[in-house]
Amino acid sequence: MYSSHMLRKKVPRLLQVFKRTSHCDRQQYDVIVVGGGHAGTEAAAAAARVGARTLLVTQKIQTIGALSCNPSLGGIGKGHLVKEVDALDGVCGRAGDWAGIHFSILNRRKGPAVWGPRAQLDRQLYREFIQSDLLSTPRLTVWEGSVEELMVEEPNPEKPGRHQVTGIRLANMETPISARSVVLTTGTFLSGSLFVGQTSSPGGRIGDAPSSAGLSHTIRERLGLRTGRLRTGTPPRVVKNSVDVSLAKLHPADLNPTPFSFINTQTRCKPEEQLPCYLTFTTPAVERVVRENLHLNCHIQQDTKGPRYCPSIESRVLRFPGRQHQVWLEPEGLTSDLLYPQGLSTTMPPDVQLRLLREIPALHKAEIHTPGYGVQYDFVCPTQLSPALQVKSTQGLFLAGQINGTTGYEEAAAQGLVAGLNAARSALAMPTVMLSRTESYIGVLIDDLVSRGVTEPYRMFTSRAEFRASLRPDNADLRLTLKGFEELGCVSSERYKEAVRVRDTLQDAMAALQSLSALPHIWKQKLPNIEISENKSGELTCMNLLLYNDVTIEMLASVFPESLSPYMEFSQRLKIEAVYRPHCDLQKREMARIQREETMLLPEDLDYFSLPVSLSQEVREILDRVRPTTLGAATRLEGMTPAATVNLLNYVRFSNRKVSKIHQKETDPKKAGEEEDLHVRNASLRQ
Ligand code: FAD
Repeated sequence: MYSSHMLRKKVPRLLQVFKRTSHCDRQQYDVIVVGGGHAGTEAAAAAARVGARTLLVTQKIQTIGALSCNPSLGGIGKGHLVKEVDALDGVCGRAGDWAGIHFSILNRRKGPAVWGPRAQLDRQLYREFIQSDLLSTPRLTVWEGSVEELMVEEPNPEKPGRHQVTGIRLANMETPISARSVVLTTGTFLSGSLFVGQTSSPGGRIGDAPSSAGLSHTIRERLGLRTGRLRTGTPPRVVKNSVDVSLAKLHPADLNPTPFSFINTQTRCKPEEQLPCYLTFTTPAVERVVRENLHLNCHIQQDTKGPRYCPSIESRVLRFPGRQHQVWLEPEGLTSDLLYPQGLSTTMPPDVQLRLLREIPALHKAEIHTPGYGVQYDFVCPTQLSPALQVKSTQGLFLAGQINGTTGYEEAAAQGLVAGLNAARSALAMPTVMLSRTESYIGVLIDDLVSRGVTEPYRMFTSRAEFRASLRPDNADLRLTLKGFEELGCVSSERYKEAVRVRDTLQDAMAALQSLSALPHIWKQKLPNIEISENKSGELTCMNLLLYNDVTIEMLASVFPESLSPYMEFSQRLKIEAVYRPHCDLQKREMARIQREETMLLPEDLDYFSLPVSLSQEVREILDRVRPTTLGAATRLEGMTPAATVNLLNYVRFSNRKVSKIHQKETDPKKAGEEEDLHVRNASLRQ
């Protein structure tokens, strides 16, 4: 666990490193990461962990780890992503444990598979932790600067249409810095414009200039990537002591804060030091002010799509007229004088923002510290990426975060980790890797992006995952840490050893729970408060008992103290594991099917228009536009029919067999005649 003493020691060191890196010490890296937001920090840290000499270039070092909008981490679906990034040794979970000032598990009324670990954060502590962690990462150099241009080589005649990235060029610097891989994580900064009322100005975020036009030019003109435009916004920040919280409903933090990170047993903030949040509601007068002033708001009048699940107050009023909308009043930090009114994101002129706020009883005397504003930005259509987050048409170029059309810190962090990991592997001549949607929410996120694309800012929900019973926040370490060490190379040996210990202990405990049993009437005597039917024939194991809502491991340990007391450390995990085991067993067959499809690769150069199988013109066009990497990704494309999937599957199977037979023929000439059979069978699939 981190101590404040450690952080105090770390921060001065951090400043020294900043000075030292104010000039770049070399002109060649394995990986260059552009942008020090949530995607960029995880990408840079992951690339360095894999062993690549990594350079992180960002516009302002002081904004590394900045929370552009809400000072919070996790939530429903998003909490899963934080746990998975942590399981792969990422930074954000540990930073959340350090900076959290109000921890709560959302969705508690539902099963633990869909619980949403969340924390309100102290902005400054979060930033300091991320900066401190990055600057003590071996093999990572951090440099302040704005990337003006991507250096790319024209397509190699052997691989027509495929560029090769060779590095970057910074603004005000002639000589490029070369790298084998580049990860772009420019967030809301690509052709970014800020909006308040009827005014707009160039910017990626308040106080920050947008990405240079040169970078947009390389992406669109030089590499020919399709881009789109999205928008988002943020609420005004309110002076804390101008708010009458007695007129809002108190929302205390959980009594026992649950850390995000698997390597932390407690959070830095002690339970009693946590700060409260408050809930209040809009009034009909708020709606009236919004409606009367819509003509003063050019952001909302445009067609560009905003985040559906984090909408502005203008969008909420227009979509749901007559409703009272929730407004959460959330602290911005332990010592901050500000509150963040979540739910009141707005781009109205500042005077209208103040009038609107003051129509809410708890905010009737509110003072605005910084007005809300909106941002519009370009994103790159993510169907142009492979599941490794590499641009299909440009070797060595990876994209992660809001640039791929997502919204949220957690979605950005998850992609950053995968892009950084793969950028490093590619630079070090290792094969790129992907996470499947059967093993992680990160896999679901990336698969949705690269196979379906986005039409509005994408955020994670538990409903997006087919295998929720298996992909739980509590077991992300078992799903990913072992793989992260053994196959991906991004997990430290200390974390790996701990995950192995957890896995082995849980396995032993489950075996013990399965083997310990008693007749129903004995259980009834031992646990008189539990409704156990005595009519059941045969013995009931501890595993059977755990399926009863109120039965805990502690109760079972009171019956079998010697056998079960060694496992008390994992009592909650064991209860969850036991409850979900039957569901997970049921899901395994379906997961195996998807995994088989995911391993069926579709050749990169497949000409879908001349493919000799029955596919409609519409399906051919979709396949040609998206160029899915695997059969699994193809089946999830919008517009792909079951019949088209079967025909494509048969084609892939036969062509795989053809390749392996040709290979056999080359090594065993006697098999030569069999090739004709394949031609005949392929022909039978034609229309
Ligand atoms: P960012 O965190 O934006 O980081 C991008 C980084 O790249 C920055 O450090 C920037 O300086 C750097 N950079 C850009 N161009 C260059 C260059 N050429 N050279 C060097 N460095 C460069 N999310 C939600 O979930 N809900 C919301 O309601 C919400 N509202 C938002 C409102 C606003 C006004 C903003 C700005 C963001 C909002 N977000 C919201 C989005 C959230 O902040 C992002 O999803 C998240 O920060 C994305 O992380 P990222 O790493 O992709 O990009």
